[in-house]
Parts: sequence; structure tokens; C-alpha cells
Amino acid sequence: MKYWQYLAVGLLAAGCSREPVPGDSYFITGDDYRAPADTTVVVAVADTAVAVGLSDTVDVQAETDSMHVSAEDSLYSATDSLEMNPDSLLAADTTSTRYWRFAAVEIQGSLYQSLESVSDVESDILGAHCVRNLVWEMNPWRGFIAGDSVKILYTTEESPRENMVVAFEYIPVSGSANHSFSGYLFTKTGDNWPSVWKPDGSELVKLLDRMPVGTFEEITSVFGEPRGNHIHQGVDYKAPEGTPVYSVTGGSVVRTNWNTPYNGNCVEIGFGGYSEIFLHLNSIAAAVVPGAVIDPGEQIGTIGNSGISTAPHLHYQINGPDGYAIDPYLYFSSHRRTLDAEDMVLFQQRVDLCREMMGE
Ligand SMILES: [Zn+2]
Repeated sequence: MKYWQYLAVGLLAAGCSREPVPGDSYFITGDDYRAPADTTVVVAVADTAVAVGLSDTVDVQAETDSMHVSAEDSLYSATDSLEMNPDSLLAADTTSTRYWRFAAVEIQGSLYQSLESVSDVESDILGAHCVRNLVWEMNPWRGFIAGDSVKILYTTEESPRENMVVAFEYIPVSGSANHSFSGYLFTKTGDNWPSVWKPDGSELVKLLDRMPVGTFEEITSVFGEPRGNHIHQGVDYKAPEGTPVYSVTGGSVVRTNWNTPYNGNCVEIGFGGYSEIFLHLNSIAAAVVPGAVIDPGEQIGTIGNSGISTAPHLHYQINGPDGYAIDPYLYFSSHRRTLDAEDMVLFQQRVDLCREMMGE
């Protein structure tokens, strides 16, 4: 299997924990936390076709004023009957005017190339944000077939989350093995940040049954994501500096703070021949010293931005006995949360609004 198939298998199989076997198919080469000089994984997206955008980017306001999403007018006063939960709105509503833009692209070549022709946003950035959504149900690097299409609603303005995508729909070309799916940004009651939910009210992103972070804004990178000449070896959970970080497995501390220019403050905890690895920490708990025994769920430090890291986040990685990384979503069981009935009412309004703006 190719690396992305491991990822796909991992994502699809998440929910059932499976004991990896050294040398088994989902052990892959490459080891980004040690910054390998060479790897054998080729990850470039096939560069085979010229991007052709079928429809132009539409500034939604230019289309019709009623589509102009303003926290003060459209969404509130124009829809008096909609008791919108402010928390359910995108962004903190600190700005009175917010534009959502709509782009529909037919994929020719890569997603990034295809977005170039229709988006006023740097296609690398918007593409990366699309990928964060798409990756939970398909392979966004190699799984596209020419003729697939993606519709996205996105914002270019300041938002409490970095990801610009407000809603998306993926429609595979006829005959594809992929299935159509869509997602919509919504803040679940009690959550600190918006997340993306499917129309049936299940969350697009999966949580590990026991998480290494208590709260997080967004999963900014999954296992297997192409990174130049290697692939990403862990899962990145973006969260504010100081957010507690926990050992998932427990075990005994193997080492701390190795290769710090790259890893930043870091911890490796061994368990049963495997290990869990935490990178880019802000602080490490005093008790976490080589040889110390850590309980499952015990706090081992806090999220930081140390080492090679562009924003505070936790890089969480599982290594097998042979030192190769394993997708944490394959190693551990995981689940999808669902919205309760009360949230579903608000969420449905959000979905309806998005669909209207996406021309549906
Ligand atoms: Zn990472």
C-alpha cells in the first residue's frame, strides 16, 4: 500500500483499536521528529493538468444584499425568527461586517492548482484549509479524480480560528469510488471553538477516545500529510499556549528535550515497546524526568510553540518498537461526537444558510 492508503485505512478503521505488528503494512518510513536526511516516500501531487475553474469566485455581497452576512443586519435582524446563538456564528462577531465568499471548482490536477483560478485567496492557504476538512473522508492528496468538484464557502477575514472554510461540499465524478460529503462550521454548546459537522449532526473530525489535550481549536495536520520529501508523523492539535497536555498511555519517561532546535521542549514516554511523543511544548511537568513512571491521563506539560512551530500546538506521535511512526488514529480507538437536539435546530439553520449561499 502507498502511504496515503495507510492514512485512509487509519481514518476508516479508527474506532477499532488494532495492535500494530512491526513490519506490518502501516509502518512507514520517515521520521519527521528526527528530521531525517532521506526518506523513501514520494509525496508530490501529480502535476498532470492545467487547472481549469468552472465557476468564478463570487463575492456573495455582490450577488445579492440578502446574502451579505453581517452580524448586525442579515443574520440577526433580517432573520428575526432565527434565534441565532452568537456562539454558533463563525468568529467572535467582533466585526459588524463579515463576508463569506463562494467558490466552486472542478478539480483538474491538484486541488491547489484548481483553486488558483477561482479564488482570490492564496491557493496554498485555502487549499490547505480545505484539505483539513476533506482528509476525514477521502484522500485529498491523491484521491481526486479529474472532474471531481469541490464547493467551498470561506472567509478572508479575521476569525477566532485560522481555517477559512465555513462550509464545503465534495462531489466526486461519476464512477469514482469516493462518496460525496459536506461539512459546516458550527460551535457546539459548551465548546470553546467552532468545529465542522456533517449534515446529520456528527462531527467531521474524530477524537481519540482518550485525548492528549483537554481542549483544542483545530487539528491542523494529520498523520501522513505530505511534507516535502517525507510525511507528517503525528497529529497536530492547535491550542493556546499553556493548555494542559496529558499522557494517553502512561508509561515510563524515556527522554526529554532531544533535538530541541527542531522538536522544542519534548517528551517521549515508553509503554510496552511502543512510545508516545510530545513535541513543541511550552513547559514540561517537574515530575517528568527520564525513568519516571507516568499514569495514563497524567499531565506531562503544556502546549507551546517551541522548536520548529509556527503557532502553539501539540505534535502527538506514536512510535512502534522499530521506531517507525504509527497513525494515532489507527493505533487508538476514536469516535465522532454528535450534536444534541437543541444544537441541531441551530445547526440546521446554519446549514440552510450555507446551502443557500452555495446556490443550493
Ligand atoms: Zn506535527
